[in-house]
Amino acid sequence: MGSAAQNHPMFRIEEYYAGDCRLQRRSERLTGLHCRIAPDRLKRGIDLPAKLPSTRRGCPFCPDAVFTATTTFPDGSRILRGESVTFPNRFPFSRWHTVTVITHKHSVHTFTQDQMENALSAQVQSLIGHTGYPSINCNYLFTAGATLAHPHLQGIVDPRPTTLLERFLRGSRQYFRRTGSVYWDDLVEHERAAGRFLFGNEIPWIASAVPLGEREVRGILPVATLDEVEPLIPRLAADLLQVMAVYASQGTRAFNFSIFFDRSRSRGEFRAFCSMIARISPNALSISDSAFMERIHLEPVVLTLPEDLARTFRRIPD
Ligand SMILES: [Zn+2]
Repeated sequence: MGSAAQNHPMFRIEEYYAGDCRLQRRSERLTGLHCRIAPDRLKRGIDLPAKLPSTRRGCPFCPDAVFTATTTFPDGSRILRGESVTFPNRFPFSRWHTVTVITHKHSVHTFTQDQMENALSAQVQSLIGHTGYPSINCNYLFTAGATLAHPHLQGIVDPRPTTLLERFLRGSRQYFRRTGSVYWDDLVEHERAAGRFLFGNEIPWIASAVPLGEREVRGILPVATLDEVEPLIPRLAADLLQVMAVYASQGTRAFNFSIFFDRSRSRGEFRAFCSMIARISPNALSISDSAFMERIHLEPVVLTLPEDLARTFRRIPD
């Protein structure tokens, strides 16, 4: 079994062969995150075509139910923008947690520019003014962890950054102290030369060198905070649609994305960024228990209190 390591200033890539199978282990120096890449496993062909859910019965996000089955903000309102409807999540996992239903239709093959722009704008409006670290997120289709089929976005704001964001905030600060430059600007330049640059000037998109998931792409925004993002939304919406189109052309329709922001008092070392991953669908209509928090934020949302789990064990005789 041979091995070769490439040492880049930003990433470490080690290549191995296990028998005839090519394997890589990659590390991102800024965050300390690792991944392994096993291209031969694509040959298993376990990624079945995603099926759009056909039944809309009982869906709380369809137009006939959305104004009765969902909650309102404390003043009794919901945010309405184009087709989109935005309201607080009934089952939050964050200090502030909102949901934006993107479309009137229960299932769509693709979104229009207007639908994506309106939904993103409504998300921004629903999160702005709430203190902490905001993100705008999406689980698209059951296999990406969506528990409701009807397309929607989720916005969260917490007083503490999630695991991935914390690593990038800390790393960006240390990088700036060490080098005097902004990591994200250096990253885009580095990736152009490394052959992982995809498209975009205003928002450069790159194939993530140490992917968090299948076909991860990252868009680096020229701002740091949610307060600054509004003028970029048309561009961001168009870019997300472009990535979705490429995913669909590669046979994966299910995806997660998260757009991470610093809190309001950003110190200039950080850039807001969007991470998007394709989700492989071995079971086309199964709801996955891993969604954007587990797969992109790297922070599991757990349902059972460990103390309750301990009580359960104590109740069961040996
Ligand atoms: Zn619906």
